[in-house]
Amino acid sequence: MTLRRAFQTLVLLSFLALAPACGAEEEPPPDDAERLRSAVTTEDILQHARRFEEIAEANGGNRAAGTPGYDASVDYVAQQLREAGYDVSVRPFEIPYYEELAPARLELVAPDARPYQEGEDFSALHFSGSGAVVAPVRPVDLGEPGDSSSGCERSDFKRLVEGEVALMRRGSCPFEDKVSNAEEAGASAVVIFNEGSQGRTGPLGAGTLERPGIGIPVIGASLAVGEDLARLNAEDGGAAVRVAASTVSENRSTANVVAERRSGSEDGTVVVGAHLDSVREGPGINDNGSGSATILEIARKMTELGVEPRKKVRFAFWGAEEIGLVGSTSYVEGLSEDEVEEIGTYLNFDMLGSPNFVRFVYDGSSGPRGSGRIEEVFTDYFASRNLEVRTDSTLEGRSDHGPFAERGIPIGGLFTGFEGTKTEEESALFGGEAGEPHDPCYHQACDTVENLNPRALDEMSDAAAHATVVLAEEE
Ligand SMILES: [Zn+2]
Repeated sequence: MTLRRAFQTLVLLSFLALAPACGAEEEPPPDDAERLRSAVTTEDILQHARRFEEIAEANGGNRAAGTPGYDASVDYVAQQLREAGYDVSVRPFEIPYYEELAPARLELVAPDARPYQEGEDFSALHFSGSGAVVAPVRPVDLGEPGDSSSGCERSDFKRLVEGEVALMRRGSCPFEDKVSNAEEAGASAVVIFNEGSQGRTGPLGAGTLERPGIGIPVIGASLAVGEDLARLNAEDGGAAVRVAASTVSENRSTANVVAERRSGSEDGTVVVGAHLDSVREGPGINDNGSGSATILEIARKMTELGVEPRKKVRFAFWGAEEIGLVGSTSYVEGLSEDEVEEIGTYLNFDMLGSPNFVRFVYDGSSGPRGSGRIEEVFTDYFASRNLEVRTDSTLEGRSDHGPFAERGIPIGGLFTGFEGTKTEEESALFGGEAGEPHDPCYHQACDTVENLNPRALDEMSDAAAHATVVLAEEE
């Protein structure tokens, strides 16, 4: 705060010294933060957001990591930054990619024919392989509810005949171990059913293998289906099923986009980041086309205006945030100790245009030392505009500042709310509808440009531009 005032005084004095004839009433010339704020307009940010939406529309409705919609977003951002004079690097990394191309099937074919219902009775586990088989069921050391290590040892499969479907109970070891053992023993498919104790009876809906690499269909079934198959097998001397799954389960390459200029001291570098990927369910315009478009426009306007702060400013567009902060984590893990030391600030912008918005500034006290100063730059700025804010740590560990904080880099950022419901208190502070979600389209197909609140975007982008310049300028 004191430094900021000293800086403004200096600007004023130099102006007076250069232009003594102008008189004392003359306003001081605008500083860089002010010039940047007025150059970064909501209309220009919305232009980028519209482009992201068009990209999603042309690519199956989303911009998720590992899809053509994401790759096209990378091309757009990289091109814009190159045109603006940045050194741009597109940095690839690998992600596990999984997609179901058709609904999975599980049907009894003997001793009688009966289909089970996908969703209700069973579903494919994430990272299931593909295939379609009709084969006898082989129960594998099923044990009892609460006491089963079914399929956890290779010796469990000694009665399995090659090509049979291994039927296993959940429990004792990861799904991955059971499935690898079954595949090695020659099973043509796997059905793992819920284990039966403590209300574990449903179809393992969220069940997931750790990674791609399994070559056979893997079905997670309810306790009832598992018990049905086990009983039929014991009573009738054998049951047979049809199992089918059609999936893409593979490692794919995706990328971060990192841009900087040669100017500015590396010591205390300000990294400004936003994730560029969406979820698979929609185009991801508030989450996080809003943050991406905002920092892209800040970057463009900085070169256009010739704003060159003392410290280096680096813009980062992260890939694969939505599947577990993969891009930012890979970037931070790739930094040497010296490179970590050089970064003085990481600013994160994830969701800046929520329709029923709140003004949340990341709580500096929940970040590493130095984060308090970043919080203060934001809160001082909003105070100067008479805009209410709240400090908040909702996003702690849930967005790309997490990996930076873990290495002790001071972090800060802005956030206008996602799945939470607006409280009466928030409504009194920020306006909008109490009792309604901050963003009713969060992670849905309706997260389009229509979903953005231009006022939120305007206020947040000004604050983001301001903090970038102020933090890159100060000691
Ligand atoms: Zn997000």
